[in-house]
Amino acid sequence: MKLRIPIIASAILLTGILSGFQKNQLPRFLKGNMHTHSFWSDGNTYPEEVARWYRDHGYQFLAITDHNLLQKGIRYRVSGKDSVRLKELSELRTEFDKTGEFMLLQSEEITDGAEKKPVHLNGFNLGTVVNPVRAATVKETLDTDVINIREALAGTPNPEWISVNHPNFGWGLTANDLAQCGARFFEVFNGHPSVRNYGDSAHPGTETMWDEANKWRVDRNEDMLLGTATDDAHQYDKYSVGNANPGRGWVMVRAEALTPEALYQSMMKGDFYATTGVELIDFSKHKNTLTIKIKAVKGVQYKTEFIGWVHGQDHPDILATVEGPKAVYKASGNELFVRARITSDKSKANAYVNGDFEMAWIQPVTLR
Ligand SMILES: [Zn+2]
Ligand SMILES: [Zn+2]
Repeated sequence: MKLRIPIIASAILLTGILSGFQKNQLPRFLKGNMHTHSFWSDGNTYPEEVARWYRDHGYQFLAITDHNLLQKGIRYRVSGKDSVRLKELSELRTEFDKTGEFMLLQSEEITDGAEKKPVHLNGFNLGTVVNPVRAATVKETLDTDVINIREALAGTPNPEWISVNHPNFGWGLTANDLAQCGARFFEVFNGHPSVRNYGDSAHPGTETMWDEANKWRVDRNEDMLLGTATDDAHQYDKYSVGNANPGRGWVMVRAEALTPEALYQSMMKGDFYATTGVELIDFSKHKNTLTIKIKAVKGVQYKTEFIGWVHGQDHPDILATVEGPKAVYKASGNELFVRARITSDKSKANAYVNGDFEMAWIQPVTLR
């Protein structure tokens, strides 16, 4: 009997250590791309080549978002005399999905438009296809697409997993459109060379549109719009600036498991960041303080800008700039919301445009 007590005690101790160890392992940041194309629509390779590229480049999840269809049913790639049946997502999952390591999400880019402008949205982890509506106006088209995707996702564990894509593509959408459409996510960065992330002399860039949309939402007590970075990859052979190649932008999601449910829950909470290369050790909000710790690469310099909207202002401001691998912002209480943008001095390889540096964007929060 005397011997048993220490055995039980050490078993309890061991269990404690193990669960503590597992807690230290999780949550971790899971790397994902949420916008890409294949031969199922206008991508230039087979879907298994797309999945392989992302799996082999350290991603944990991938949404293949071909235009106006799900990868279901019989479809052929015809090239000259050759005709090859394309693999369905269910077949790709058998080949590529591995518990805790890699996961494909059945998704679609609802490719719509009105008033000669493109209106594109992604629905993630969809069970049924969502058709474009082509309504009379951009606003009506966008709003109806959001409603239709929501309807298709109703009853799933991810009812609001909807993104508005590349708002400046074809100068299709305005900050008001983003504000009022009801979608939770949009692409603050898209790697396709035609999408005009940074705006021009006559149009605001996606970051300014993001802040304006969130001013509108915060004023109405609505959930803020959250920003992703994606590839929108179409070309998997020739890698150069000007081609829509993979590897340009992605999200890092702090999820407890590699499941659609866990990713969705974390993303809805804003517990993720968008990046073109800068990675983080941690970011956290505690009362009125936002703290960011960058996974610094030797020889690379980092600048964190805290961007927010101060009560009574009619524009967003850079509220503070911090150099180095750790950045802390203490709110004064006058900010409606604050987000962070990190810019490194490391040039982005095969960039969206020449001159880009590796960056990251942290989601807007209220600090009260
Ligand atoms: Zn698109
Ligand atoms: Zn696309």
